[in-house]
Amino acid sequence: RAKADPVQKVRFYEPAMDEVLRARRSLAADLRDALARDQLSVHYQVQASIATGQIHGYEALLRWNHPKLGPIPPTEFIPLAEENGLILPIGEWVLRTACREATLWSPSYKIAVNVSAVQFMHVDLVQLVKSTLAETGLAPERLELELTESTIFTDRERALHMLHQIKELGVSVALDDFGTGYSSLDTLRSFPFDRIKIDRSFCDSGEGSPQTFAIIRAVIALGKAFGIPVLAEGIETDDQLSRLTSEGCDEGQGYLLGRPAPLRQIVETGQLKLIHHERKIIANESGA
Ligand code: C2E
Ligand code: MG
Ligand code: MG
Ligand code: MG
Repeated sequence: RAKADPVQKVRFYEPAMDEVLRARRSLAADLRDALARDQLSVHYQVQASIATGQIHGYEALLRWNHPKLGPIPPTEFIPLAEENGLILPIGEWVLRTACREATLWSPSYKIAVNVSAVQFMHVDLVQLVKSTLAETGLAPERLELELTESTIFTDRERALHMLHQIKELGVSVALDDFGTGYSSLDTLRSFPFDRIKIDRSFCDSGEGSPQTFAIIRAVIALGKAFGIPVLAEGIETDDQLSRLTSEGCDEGQGYLLGRPAPLRQIVETGQLKLIHHERKIIANESGA
């Protein structure tokens, strides 16, 4: 949060900060129109078993193609959307789009959707998920929501209550970016997560640092103790993959296994199998 507070910097770097603020404000204004103007899209990244390579699902990752600036990374525009509340309609749109598209896939694949802390606090997520599943016809067992610890940190009691209700629908919940931020063992004990995702910063530095690898190993052991599958994010090299394999990590996600890409593209490269009769529909759709 500290980095989002510009006040301190203004005192020291007035002209430059003015620019930054203006750019931020104009980007936030552009984001307001992005949904209506069809500039947002959802990319999908494969999640697979490390031991067998079997695909178990895909994570939906939001993309914004700005008409003048080109692609803006979500790490830049999602905080803006959280500040001005746009994350609510945008989050709803991502959920609906991802669920609708997942109904075209072979039913053995799950779809994982990120939920922002702001959504979690300000929306009746249970109702939203329920109506989205009803509207799209996606089986609840095929949907997974990804939450980070900062999401449940604000109001743990409400979070726990909501998590139980979501699970009652048959939807599963993953703990995203584990190892960063507020990670606590108590969260793992108290919250009924179905999957732990080890943050990719651990994979990144895993090659060089024994300490980092010790953390990965400990999280894998925790997962085993709790009976929760552990997924390693950000696998980029064969070396990382083989280390994770030998440590008994259950699942992985990363550029090595597949980069996030539009639906059309992951279908074309054979990374995603569709229900037979849907092939033509995807092929005929323009952008995806
Ligand atoms: P995340 O949920 O932890 O998503 C994983 C991020 O890691 C994605 O970044 C993905 O592109 C990136 N990644 C995957 N494999 C690799 C790899 O091998 N190497 C590297 N360097 N990166 C890899 P992305 O798409 O830029 O998204 C960043 C974050 O933005 C996400 O982190 C998530 O917190 C947020 N986000 C993305 N889409 C949504 C959304 O629809 N709703 C919400 N609330 N947040 C979203
Ligand atoms: Mg995620
Ligand atoms: Mg993550
Ligand atoms: Mg992240």
